[in-house]
Amino acid sequence: MRDFSNDHSWMSINTATVRKAQGKEVPLLDILDACARHQIRAISPWRDQVAAAGLQAVSRAVRSHGLALSGYCRGGMFTAVDDEGLARARDDNRRAVDEACELNAACLVLVVGGLPGALEGKAGYHDLAHARGQVTEGIGQLLEYARERKMPIAIEPLHPMYAADRACINTLEQALDVCDLLDPAGTGDIGVAVDLYHVWWDPKLQAQIERAGKRRLLAFHVCDWLTPTTDLLNDRGMMGDGVIEIPKVRAWVESQGFSGYSEVEIFSSRWWSRDTDDILRTCVERHRTVV
Ligand code: ZN
Repeated sequence: MRDFSNDHSWMSINTATVRKAQGKEVPLLDILDACARHQIRAISPWRDQVAAAGLQAVSRAVRSHGLALSGYCRGGMFTAVDDEGLARARDDNRRAVDEACELNAACLVLVVGGLPGALEGKAGYHDLAHARGQVTEGIGQLLEYARERKMPIAIEPLHPMYAADRACINTLEQALDVCDLLDPAGTGDIGVAVDLYHVWWDPKLQAQIERAGKRRLLAFHVCDWLTPTTDLLNDRGMMGDGVIEIPKVRAWVESQGFSGYSEVEIFSSRWWSRDTDDILRTCVERHRTVV
């Protein structure tokens, strides 16, 4: 396993981690400047942050700072109640691939969607198996387009608590089943994003990481699971503050040959009340000591 104790060159910052500071939104270009100040050489930005700053402006800033993108967040949300909704999702996902190409991202991360409308509190239907079918079909269509553009796509299984409203793919096993169905040859054009927050509890985690192998392991996201967790979305822990055995899982991932970034992704109202430099300094320190 790589030794991260003396440098953080393999740490990436998912820009949601510093989306806010002292309770206020931080513009993406300011986040990029802050990452450069802390000698952070990779990021994973969110589409809404990129749209607010302007794709071309972000693209220029990424280049001028010499930043790499460990991923681009996110495509997905493939489910819909009608054909029009499915077509909208298809078109939007193609735009996400185009943006990821413009920013030279390592992969486009997919949060696949749950029951359509559930996020807004009004699920259009209740058939989770049907949602999973729509998701598989949507990913299959997107894979064809992403292949043309040479942009790998990474399915991120989400913790089962998000099955209704955010993602009906909830385990690494499920995600890999979809990969194997759509890409039996294992080309690496489609794979998984292993986010510890979502999968740390899974008794099959090690076995499924081994099943994934190097070609399907496209991204590795780190944070921690707090006890108690007080908010289902915005109470992720800083690495070292919770119960996840992070180095153990990193060892499993790296023993498959994964040699990419560990991407710090922390949605946390607690941390968003702090100052950007304080958050980034802590990420660097924890990355060296507990990741
Ligand atoms: Zn993630």
